[in-house]
Amino acid sequence: MATPTEPVLDVQALKKTYQTRQGGVEAIAELTFAVKPGEFVCIVGPSGAGKTTLLRCIGGLLAPTSGQVVLAGNKVTGPPKDMAVVFQEYGRSLFPWLTVAQNVELPLKEKGLAKHLRTKLVTDSLDAVGLIDFADSHPWELSGGMQQRVAIARAVAYEPKVLMMDEPFAAVDAQTRADLEDLVRSLWSRLGITVLFVTHDIEESVYLAERVVVLSARPTVVLDVVDVDLPVERDQLTTRSSPRFAELRAEVYSLVQAAKRGERSTTSAVD
Ligand code: ADP
Repeated sequence: MATPTEPVLDVQALKKTYQTRQGGVEAIAELTFAVKPGEFVCIVGPSGAGKTTLLRCIGGLLAPTSGQVVLAGNKVTGPPKDMAVVFQEYGRSLFPWLTVAQNVELPLKEKGLAKHLRTKLVTDSLDAVGLIDFADSHPWELSGGMQQRVAIARAVAYEPKVLMMDEPFAAVDAQTRADLEDLVRSLWSRLGITVLFVTHDIEESVYLAERVVVLSARPTVVLDVVDVDLPVERDQLTTRSSPRFAELRAEVYSLVQAAKRGERSTTSAVD
C-alpha cells in the first residue's frame, strides 16, 4: 500500500511502440514521473505527443512495450479498480436509460458496496456537484456541462485512489468550462483526492495544477516539470490576472513551443 511519502501513481521508464504494417511507431520513448497522494498534476504536450497512449497505459487499456505503471503499490495490468476516469465525451460515458442517481450508483454496485453506503455516496457526490435536485432526471434532459458534472460526481463517489481526467472540458463552452474547472479544484481541495488531468490548454493546466508535466513531441519523454506556486485558493478573476500566473503561463507556453520544435529534455527521469 502507498504511504503518504510514497507516490500513489508511479510511471516507471514507460515505453510504447505500436506495431503497424509499415513497421514500429515509437509513441513513447521513455516516460518516468510520479504523483504523490493528494497532488493535482496536469499533463500538457503538443498534439500527437502520446498523451492518449500514456493515459491508456496508465488506465490498463494498453500494455506498455516496456516499463510499468504502479498504482497504489500494485502494477497495472488491466483497468485498475483504484482509478476513476472522466473523459471528454460525457455524452457517451453516461447511460441514457439510467437516471442521474443510477448512473452514479452503478460503479458502486460493481464495487460491491452495501445499499446504505451507495445511497450516501450518491447523495453526497451529487450534492457536491450541485445536482442533487436532478437525481431522478435522465442525462439527456441535462445540458452538456451538467452531464459532465454527473460524470465527475460518479468518479468522486467511487472514491478512487487516482482520478484521471482526459481533456474533460474540451467539449463545453468557455463559461461552463470555467465553472467546471472551479468545481474540480474545490472538490480536490475539499476531498483531498489525487488528480491527473490531461489538457492541451496551457492556461487551464496552470490554473488547475500544483505541477505541470510538459511532454516532448513523439517519441515522448518528459520535457520539463513546472511547479505551480500559486495560492491554493484560486479564482478565475484574481488568479488569472495575477503577475505570477502570467509568468507561469509564459513558462509552460515556451516549453510547449520548444516541444513542438522537437526539443527534448536531456533527462527523462523526473519525480
Ligand atoms: P496525443 O493524444 O498526444 O495526440 P497519441 O497518444 O494519440 O497522442 O499518439 C501518439 C503517436 O502515436 C502519434 O504519432 C500517433 O500517430 C501514434 N499512434 C497512436 N495510436 C496508434 C496506433 N494504434 N498505431 C500506430 N500508431 C499510433
